[in-house]
This record gives sequence, C-alpha cells and structure tokens, in this order.
Amino acid sequence: MHQLLFGTAGIPLSTIPRTTLNGISMARELGLSAMELEFVHSVTVSEAQTPAVRKAKEKEGIELTCHGQYYMNLNSLEKQKRDDTVQRILRASRAAWMCGAWSICFHAAYYMEKPKDEVYKVVKESLQKISEELRNEKNNIWIRPELTGKGKQFGTLEELLQLSQEIEQVMPCIDFSHCHARFNGKFNTYKEFMWILEQIEKALGKKGIENMHIHAAGIDYGPNGEKSHKIFRESDFDYKALMKALADFGAKGIVICESPNLEGDALLMKKEYEKRI
Ligand SMILES: [Zn+2]
Repeated sequence: MHQLLFGTAGIPLSTIPRTTLNGISMARELGLSAMELEFVHSVTVSEAQTPAVRKAKEKEGIELTCHGQYYMNLNSLEKQKRDDTVQRILRASRAAWMCGAWSICFHAAYYMEKPKDEVYKVVKESLQKISEELRNEKNNIWIRPELTGKGKQFGTLEELLQLSQEIEQVMPCIDFSHCHARFNGKFNTYKEFMWILEQIEKALGKKGIENMHIHAAGIDYGPNGEKSHKIFRESDFDYKALMKALADFGAKGIVICESPNLEGDALLMKKEYEKRI
C-alpha cells in the first residue's frame, strides 16, 4: 500500500439496503477507501457473486479486507475441530481473494491451558499448511492472525511477529484496541503505540510498517481483557494518540474501524490522521 486507508468492519450502517455491493458504493460516498468483508458467522459472498464484488470495488476504488469466522481454534483438543478451522480459513481466503480482497484476518486459537510454546508450534504448523495450499492455488491474499483481546486467546504481538517471520504470506493483523484491553488498560499512549510500531519494524523491517492491517475501536475491558466494543466517545481508547503515532511512523496499509457506529468512528480516525500528515 502507498498510503494509510480507512474503512469499516463490514457494510457501513447508513447503507440501504445493506448489501455488500451497496456497502462498497457507500464507503466511497462517505469518503472512506476500504471495507472489511465480515465473514465472521459464515462466508456471505457466494462464488457466483464474487465477480460483481470485484468489479464494484475496482469501480469505486475501494480496497477490501476480510475477517474470518469467529468460531475457530487451530489448537482445539479435537482433531476434527482443528481440521475444520483450517478448512474455514481456506474457504474464507478463497472467497475473499475472488472478491479482490488484499488481506484476511482471524482469531487463530485458544491456549486451552497448554504451554504457550507448544501452542505456537501447533498454530504454526496449520498456518504453514494454509499458506502452502493458497500458494499452490496462486492465491496471494495476506494471511493474518490477529492480535487478540483476551489472555486465554493465542495472538500476542510477539507470537504474531514470529509467525510472520517464519511463514511466507503471513503478516500480523494489529488490533490496537485488543492490545489495550488484553493488558487491562495498558498500551494507550503515543509512546506505547510507537513502541508497538518499533517492534514490528524490528521484526519485519520497513515492509512490516508499509503493509499493515490494523483494527481499532472503542473498547470495554477488565482483568480478563476485552469485554465489548464501544464507540470512541464512550471508551478510554486514545485513538488520537494512535493516529499521531501511525502518521509519525509512516505506517501504510488499511485501518478498519470496529466501533459499533462503524463509519462514524472510521471517519473520526481518518480526520484525525489527516491533520497529522
Ligand atoms: Zn477480530
């Protein structure tokens, strides 16, 4: 990406009726440049519909990202569920790629009270399989395990950076609000956001900074991490400090807003960011 683009997690709320195609046009009308396909319950675009989505995104100049299903666990104690998770990620990646999407993120696993290094190996093996399979199909979508909001979920910054170093086509999805919630209120200052960006650059070089899939939202949390998403106005998440850090560091890629008011907060971030560049 040549710049930092802003978009909504799913079809903007003001879209009538709320279809993917209308959502892409609405994103452009709102002055946004991206939209995330929310395949969080199922893949909502059929194979037959994908050419129309691709055409719409190209016509409107909107970049697409994708969020894979919620109910997945590459570290399930049951083999069947681990295999199903791999298949779900593959299915979503194929549909998203056919729509012309650039990147797919997902919550990779739960620790299931196992040692973290053991879980890391299990997740890595599955992601390697997924990456290989997609490359065989000439599917170049970025595969992005997400920085997760709860301590029992796999997906710390360190784990994601290591996976990105070790597996081709894998890069992190940095959810700054999850990071803030996961550590019960930490990671909410300019300095801390800059620190995160420095870690990414150290591990992945400039290409890590210029190829970012970011999530941000207002968020409510407690000692166990994330509770729910909120709008920025009702949350302590300092999106202004985040925008300043992203601008100062020269981050490029796509910022997806997951606040409940989707485009409202996406536009707030965009406006704040544009003041800084
Ligand atoms: Zn997510």
